Amino acid sequence: MSTVPEHSRQDFDADKTLQIDNVLAPHVHWSEIEETKHFVQFYETDDFLIDSLSGYISTGLSRGDACIVLATDSHRQGLEERLGARGFDLASLDGQYIFLDAAETLSHLMVDGSPDASYFTGVVGNTIERVAHGKRPIRIFGELVSLLCVDGNRTAAIRLEELWNELRHKQPFSLFCAYWMPSFNGQAYREQFREICKQHAHVIPSESYTALHDVDERLRAISLLQQQAISLRELEKREDAFISMASHELRTPVTSLKGFTQILQRRLKHQADPQSLFFLERMNAQLNRLTNLISDLLDVSKIEAGILELHQANVDCDELVRETVEAVQANCATHRLDIEGKTEAQVYADRDRLEQVLMNLLTNAIKYSPEADSILIRLRKVQGQVEVAIQDFGIGIPEEHQERVFERFYQVSGPEQNTYPGLGIGLYIARTLIERHGGCLWLKSRQGAGSTFYFTLPIHM
Ligand code: ADP
Repeated sequence: MSTVPEHSRQDFDADKTLQIDNVLAPHVHWSEIEETKHFVQFYETDDFLIDSLSGYISTGLSRGDACIVLATDSHRQGLEERLGARGFDLASLDGQYIFLDAAETLSHLMVDGSPDASYFTGVVGNTIERVAHGKRPIRIFGELVSLLCVDGNRTAAIRLEELWNELRHKQPFSLFCAYWMPSFNGQAYREQFREICKQHAHVIPSESYTALHDVDERLRAISLLQQQAISLRELEKREDAFISMASHELRTPVTSLKGFTQILQRRLKHQADPQSLFFLERMNAQLNRLTNLISDLLDVSKIEAGILELHQANVDCDELVRETVEAVQANCATHRLDIEGKTEAQVYADRDRLEQVLMNLLTNAIKYSPEADSILIRLRKVQGQVEVAIQDFGIGIPEEHQERVFERFYQVSGPEQNTYPGLGIGLYIARTLIERHGGCLWLKSRQGAGSTFYFTLPIHM
């Protein structure tokens, strides 16, 4: 089987870019690029794209990766011809190479001019899950986004890039997106072009940069594109480092403040000073809030660093829900919390972490339904799983925000929401925890009519 031709060995390290003035087009070292995971190639001619694409896919096939190609029929033909010429017999690659027609796939995803999150998971996510069988690495090429841009629907393309990124959080894979450069001609599309660069960890410029005769001009063209992608990645890295440092640094002083508060409380009880005790109680409540915020931030940094541990054991689902609901009810005078149904099942779970998920969903239900006075918790068994539903009758979540509330630091903005405190990380943590337990967490909601958050967990026999 052939490997990547020597002339295409060019990586995008900024220093090495200085050596590229004699290559014909910006090629990429495909065996290294998957480290950057999600990258975009801008192209002008089909030949140029197929050249890159066949490098990407042939490197993947040689390494035993599963390769999924979501392309137009003409690009598929071009790709398969090149792969054939490189010695790959696609018919014999049982399940390792999958082709999906881009236009047809897109037609299954779009609802009212925008890609639908659940259809996307259904169509693309399921295909990925199917080929991931056996845990081999996955490479995907997709040009659904390019078709949307050619149609003039750049907003939908950006949304689709976000959905790809969300999917990559759940299931790691390397993703190569391609955009036809002429669909970005014109000043009006510069912002959208920039937005698309931001969605990717790595940006490969189109071939016409070679038309720039001056080496300096070429370097500027390349580095501008890369800069946009790199600066976003850098920003995310710095954000992670900051969250980790801040949460660790804050924890120690808050813990000692809590200790001193407790000592003072004990002393003042003996001195019968009710007013000071009242202030101390309020101080303690605020310190508890601060402790919870810090521990949420710590969880985020553990999740990002991949070091969040679970201590799993058999847990009685109904009992855990009942105890957590009772604890929340004890501190809530505004709402009545009712449990309906039962699962009579055990789950294999980290009890504290599940309690944390329930607490988050219950306190959100209370927080975002200030005009209502009840919360409904429903328990049932469905197809080997327990399902817990928490329904409120509050402000609800507009449809366009429903998937995004699970992103870290995402809060629905609007005149109503501005009055609610929070960091926008509870649901991100909750979904990660449930998925780590092999379950799913999702929501149904209508603006003004309340929300129901559901999660499932596998039953433990
Ligand atoms: P926060 O600390 O902001 O509540 P979460 O991650 O728990 O963070 O929630 C993210 C966002 O989702 C919230 O800011 C809010 O806009 C929205 N949200 C969460 N739960 C509900 C709910 N039950 N009803 C309405 N909106 C909700």
